[in-house]
Amino acid sequence: MKDPASVDPRKWNAGRVVALHRWIDALYSLRVEAEVEPFEAGQFGRLGLVIDGEFVSRPYSFVNAPNERPLDFYFIVIPAGRLTPQLETLRCGDTVWVARKPSGLFTLSQVPAGRFLWMLATGTALGPFLSILKTEEPWRRFERIVLVHGVRTPFELAYQETIAGFRRDYPDRFRFFASVTREPCPQAFSVRIPQAIVSGLLERAAGLPLIPKDSQVMICGNPAMVKDTVTLLQSRGFRENLRKQPGQITTERYW
Ligand code: NAP
Repeated sequence: MKDPASVDPRKWNAGRVVALHRWIDALYSLRVEAEVEPFEAGQFGRLGLVIDGEFVSRPYSFVNAPNERPLDFYFIVIPAGRLTPQLETLRCGDTVWVARKPSGLFTLSQVPAGRFLWMLATGTALGPFLSILKTEEPWRRFERIVLVHGVRTPFELAYQETIAGFRRDYPDRFRFFASVTREPCPQAFSVRIPQAIVSGLLERAAGLPLIPKDSQVMICGNPAMVKDTVTLLQSRGFRENLRKQPGQITTERYW
């Protein structure tokens, strides 16, 4: 860190790295002790480092629940990126700057009532769903919850212990499905999420109808996946959830 004086202390707190867990290749979870203002599950914070004299920061969703510490951020190293190749070099005890004020609207307070909550994620966008599922609200509000995680290879199916915990706690109300598209994986769908919907695979596996009357769908991840899935659901009568006109689809594009 060459020039910490360039970091605005009104906006940023110095966080201490307590762990950098490598799942596979470029996939990491960075755990940080830092003070942040209260946030709602599904929101994101910002991480920053001074790199070559310049302060560089990016948004990262909290994977931890609002009352849980340390803060937990799940990220993929983008080789041509400014920040993530540096995040990858952090060690326990190092400083990373954490924005005091979290933000974001991908939260259950934005999601209207429904019976079934469908959570569709690709890649590191699994993170905000885990934060939400660690809180009481989804379990209080929805009868059944289906989480789908789309990845390229089975090794990218991170946080399986956390997901197994939801299964243990809610055996009759929670279902998890993986969609693994580029390598064989016997327990997973072998098609992209929209194809699993079109073919009826997801509904059959979940044992639930994916219809607007009963469903709320949260979608987060690869912008192309979000777009394709929204288009597909709209063709089945779903509407995007807007401030003026509540619907059944709530989205966040991850980049
Ligand atoms: P990804 O390419 O997003 O793939 C994850 C899953 O989404 C795969 O199963 C993939 O299927 C599927 N998918 C891709 N396009 C889709 C579409 N249009 N409709 C439905 N499903 C679709 O893989 P990733 O490893 O998570 O991310 C890849 C790259 O995205 C990274 O290397 C990075 O460049 C970028 N990324 C950027 C950020 C950022 O913050 N800037 C964050 C995360 C990722 P297929 O295997 O069939 O493609």
